Amino acid sequence: MSQPVNLLEFDRDGLTAYCEQLGEKRFRATQLARWIHQRGVADFAAMSDLAKSLRDKLAGRAVVAPLPVVSEQASADGTIKWLFDVGGGNAVETVYIPEDDRGTLCISSQAGCAVGCRFCSTGHQGFSRNLTTGEIVAQLWYAEHALRGRQNRPEGERVITNVVMMGMGEPLQNYAALVPALRLMLDDHGYGLSRRRVTVSTSGVVPMIDRLRDDCPVALAVSLHAPGDALRNELVPLNRKYPIAELLATCRRYLDKAPRDFITIEYCMLDGVNDQDEHAHQLLALLRDGPQALPCKINLIPFNPFPQSGLKRSPMPRVAAFARIVQDGGLVCTVRKTRGDDIDAACGQLAGEVQDRTRVALRMVRAPVGKRTRAARSESPA
Ligand code: SAH
Ligand code: SF4
Repeated sequence: MSQPVNLLEFDRDGLTAYCEQLGEKRFRATQLARWIHQRGVADFAAMSDLAKSLRDKLAGRAVVAPLPVVSEQASADGTIKWLFDVGGGNAVETVYIPEDDRGTLCISSQAGCAVGCRFCSTGHQGFSRNLTTGEIVAQLWYAEHALRGRQNRPEGERVITNVVMMGMGEPLQNYAALVPALRLMLDDHGYGLSRRRVTVSTSGVVPMIDRLRDDCPVALAVSLHAPGDALRNELVPLNRKYPIAELLATCRRYLDKAPRDFITIEYCMLDGVNDQDEHAHQLLALLRDGPQALPCKINLIPFNPFPQSGLKRSPMPRVAAFARIVQDGGLVCTVRKTRGDDIDAACGQLAGEVQDRTRVALRMVRAPVGKRTRAARSESPA
């Protein structure tokens, strides 16, 4: 018998098509989505308002298959990080960040990343593979329902109110899997999040930003990290393909359909590299003045160090001075609070290291990291 279909792979259109394929009415897809995503039920037998005949058809043909949890770590500040096994010696990380008025889940889109930014632990690891829609959705499915059970929330109250695609990987280099996952997050019969509360963060895959604008315009964050092309080429190698002028022009187009009237600009503060007064002034000149100006909010991220980066975090007084220049220049500029550093859950520290050393050792014998990275880069779509 063929492999059962994992229903986490489908957005509602996909579920509808699947129901039709089984000879079932379209509205069954809505019922299924509600059981799976709103109520966290994986067992078809427990889906009491589905016709017995449909439950029988699903049993054996389909499953709701979550990702195996390799580990869970809780930070003193309430942040929780999970490591999920995605097979083949790969694992991805998901981080839950509770705040007074919201619960944010930071989700991974790829095992590793092909962009290779200098300051990012995932980038240093190289690219292994794209996650499927089901693997992206499984992170949200698990976190929402595991936490809802633990926190004794009343029926229907959500724990995760915001999703940020800021975990491992470049979401716009996994576009085909990303979009159905975003649609499920927005679906009233799925996770019911508003477009403003779902953010895609990108290092600047220009053609895919344009496609997202047409297909599923959610909030957009762009990882800029430098006010000019020469420095950005060094920090974010994708800049050589899509330089700043093109990136900002695409962002301006995105605003026509974006759920917010600004783009978030992320800027990782690296000691002595991009954090000087002159960089702040150049950033103002770029984003506020002239032909490339963009309605935006700047979010400074103090660099989170990891071994092998060779980079240092800007001292906090430097971050504050930089923020002040930008604010005095009239742009909104905030400094991101670092959360979960005691469990290496902060931005850019996610490396998805599998605990099982024998499997990791095996993988390294078969494919030395450098070679694997190069091979994978040529496969990546952008
Ligand atoms: N690939 C996407 C999303 C994942 S990274 C992107 O690059 O936007 C999420 C954010 O964390 C990005 O802004 C990224 O630049 C930033 N980041 C990466 N490594 C970091 C580090 N070591 N310290 C602080 N921020 C980092
Ligand atoms: Fe990839 Fe984003 Fe890390 Fe750059 S910062 S290597 S794009 S995950």
